[in-house]
Amino acid sequence: MQLNKTLSHKIMGLVAALGLLSPLSVSHSFAAAQKFIAIGTGGPTGVYFVVGNAVCRVVNKQSLIDMKRGKGSAVKCSAPSTGGSVYNMNSIISQDFDLGIVQSDVQYEAFKGSGNFEGKPFKKLRALFSVHPEPFQILVSKDSKINKWADLKGKRVNIGNPGSGQRGTFETLMIANNIDASFFGKVTELTSTEQSKALCNGNIDAYGYTVGVPNAGVAQAADGCSARIITLDTPEIKKLIADTPYFSDATIKKGVYSTVTEDVKTFGVTATVVSSSDISKETIYKVVRAVFENLEEFKKLHPSFAGLDPKDMIKNGLSAPLHPGAAKYYKEKGWIK
Ligand code: GLU
Repeated sequence: MQLNKTLSHKIMGLVAALGLLSPLSVSHSFAAAQKFIAIGTGGPTGVYFVVGNAVCRVVNKQSLIDMKRGKGSAVKCSAPSTGGSVYNMNSIISQDFDLGIVQSDVQYEAFKGSGNFEGKPFKKLRALFSVHPEPFQILVSKDSKINKWADLKGKRVNIGNPGSGQRGTFETLMIANNIDASFFGKVTELTSTEQSKALCNGNIDAYGYTVGVPNAGVAQAADGCSARIITLDTPEIKKLIADTPYFSDATIKKGVYSTVTEDVKTFGVTATVVSSSDISKETIYKVVRAVFENLEEFKKLHPSFAGLDPKDMIKNGLSAPLHPGAAKYYKEKGWIK
């Protein structure tokens, strides 16, 4: 693990350095005062990958400004593609990643020690801020007769790769419906990048995905081969929303994809950015400051960021305590006491 970490940090350092070799960044302090951080994201066609790279973009930009002004150490950031929320959380626990993007249900479970983290609460977990809403979506092939959850019986369904947040949400839904994998005709564990292709090629009948709207992966199926998103508003789902602090009602708005011809009701979580309390206050302060000082630029980097508002971002979906570096910035802004 230690070897992996050293190696991966070296590689990430190199990548970050190469990306920053603009005339502006060449200075004597360039090599001396830098802190490299890595953010765990998701599949390359999802929204987490964009979130991580948007955070890095503003962090790296801010670092160039700080270095030019000779203002202390600079944070350099990279955001590789990963298997998703649970993978990111485990990589923060193992110290392979400094930050990660995780669903609010995963944040809750890791801090409390439930679900995927049963009996292993990660008490060092700290929250930075939340990002876009992530409705849980079941995509079904155009010609399938699937119109509701119960119609998935006997069908070929992708429940998501182990390590993804959607896999966790899918399993929560299976438990709430008192079923196991034998309910379906076949269960696959494809990644978010593979699932739309499999649906369009006729290799699966449906998949579940917890993801921001709109995004390239779902568009591939919805616009590419007329896949539909089904309504999810059963009593079991209403009970989940009532019983947990992290699930809420969600609606996929009419028109976001060509096959969404009316609003679709479902439920969802919030994407959140977290770290361990071992990451220094100074580093987290710089990350958070870069995001909020450049929020207008950040919001333009993906359509699902359009509704981002600092007053929601500093509380929605956050069940772990705020990292002291984030709290310092929010206090300076007068957003918290
Ligand atoms: N919510 C998904 C997960 O946690 C990732 C979605 C995305 O990549 O945007 O695995």
